[in-house]
Amino acid sequence: MSQDLIDTLLDPQERAFRQEVRAFIQDNVPDETRRSADLGRHATKPEVRAWQTALYNRGWAAPSWPTEFGGPGWSPIQQMLYSMECGLNAAPRVPSFGTKMVGPVLYTFASPDQKAFYLPRILKGEDWWCQGFSEPGAGSDLASLKTRAELRGDTYVVNGQKIWTTKAQHANRMFCLVRTSSEGRPQAGISFLLIDMDTPGIEVRPIISIDGSHTLNEVFFTDVRVPADNLVGDPGKGWTYAKFLLGNERSDITGAGRSRRQIERLKTMAASNAIHDRPLTENPTFMAALADVEADLTALEFTELRFLALHARGEERGTEASILKYRGTEIQQELARLLREAAGAYAMAKGEESEAAFAVSNPEAGHLAAGIVQEYLYGRAASIYGGSNEIQKNIIAKLQLGS
Ligand SMILES: Cc1cc2nc3c(=O)[nH]c(=O)nc-3n(C[C@H](O)[C@H](O)[C@H](O)COP(=O)(O)OP(=O)(O)OC[C@H]3O[C@@H](n4cnc5c(N)ncnc54)[C@H](O)[C@@H]3O)c2cc1C
Repeated sequence: MSQDLIDTLLDPQERAFRQEVRAFIQDNVPDETRRSADLGRHATKPEVRAWQTALYNRGWAAPSWPTEFGGPGWSPIQQMLYSMECGLNAAPRVPSFGTKMVGPVLYTFASPDQKAFYLPRILKGEDWWCQGFSEPGAGSDLASLKTRAELRGDTYVVNGQKIWTTKAQHANRMFCLVRTSSEGRPQAGISFLLIDMDTPGIEVRPIISIDGSHTLNEVFFTDVRVPADNLVGDPGKGWTYAKFLLGNERSDITGAGRSRRQIERLKTMAASNAIHDRPLTENPTFMAALADVEADLTALEFTELRFLALHARGEERGTEASILKYRGTEIQQELARLLREAAGAYAMAKGEESEAAFAVSNPEAGHLAAGIVQEYLYGRAASIYGGSNEIQKNIIAKLQLGS
């Protein structure tokens, strides 16, 4: 693994920490799981659970949480090194819905009883959460959401529909934005409700995405009865909690470690002559594009580090997560484009199939190109999920440029 520029800034303790994380991943993530990430396959629930358990036993289940709630007490640089090493070494992605999204909302805004019940379960990976925000007609314009929760005695009765609900088919809980009032500004009537996915009246229907995978769903609610105790914070304050949550979600999409791994893969492919008549290292146009994206990635890593320092000093401007999300996903998509180009005609077969398809005629090419088209196709969504990149640019323009 080549040394990146961040490494040159580290002191001996930080370098030792980075080595410790790397060794921990190598000892606890089976080679097969790592290889399947390179094949463009989403980690399976058992793979994620095994990794979550290893992290929990090590005290690393929630890198960014305060120690009083079970976080490891890492510095900003340690958090970043951890996340980079996970991407670089293809550790399974622990879904961010628990530790990165609803967890911080709960320890910041929830009641003592809710904290005591949910937080340990998130750390241990006992609950699998999904995010019920988007609806048909309420994506970018999230405040226009219509799913209603009507208070009857000590129960909310929920009716409506969510869409694009990632991993809802595996989830036992949903954190959900619901409309509890139609008075005043649309934002003012939104509340944040925790819903048990086994409650009668919930129907989950699959959406198959362009890469052929099933990660997305529609979720329908018909007279779903939810205890009023499952409301987080105050009724009508859901918009505030959602904005807090979306900041964490967007920062998590940056994916710098994973992009670094893709740069390494591209360099290996460029040096090989298994796919093209001459290695791509002799193609100046390709190599210039590779150099450009590597420079962009290095800039992103340093930007992330600067933002972590601002966060630690309480000096954020509110645009940091949008900048990281927008730049991070542009880099991911450019890398996927270059990988597809490097794979040439071998990009046409999917995942494991590509290795099998080319096993006889050109095994090295099949191995190099495996999974590239899946990653390329699913990656088209990166500029949409977590709030589209156009919306991120609007936020940056409004808050940072004052326009
Ligand atoms: C793979 C994937 C996973 C997802 N997972 C989840 C999930 O788990 N839970 C969940 O709640 N949601 C999820 N989403 C939904 C996601 O948050 C929305 O798709 C996103 O917010 C965009 O909303 P929309 O799809 O309704 O598009 P629209 O809001 O209809 O936008 C359509 C287009 O118009 C542009 N646009 C809209 N308004 C403006 C504007 N004001 N200025 C400039 N351009 C604008 C957008 O950028 C976009 O290009 C997921 C989406 C995807 C693709």
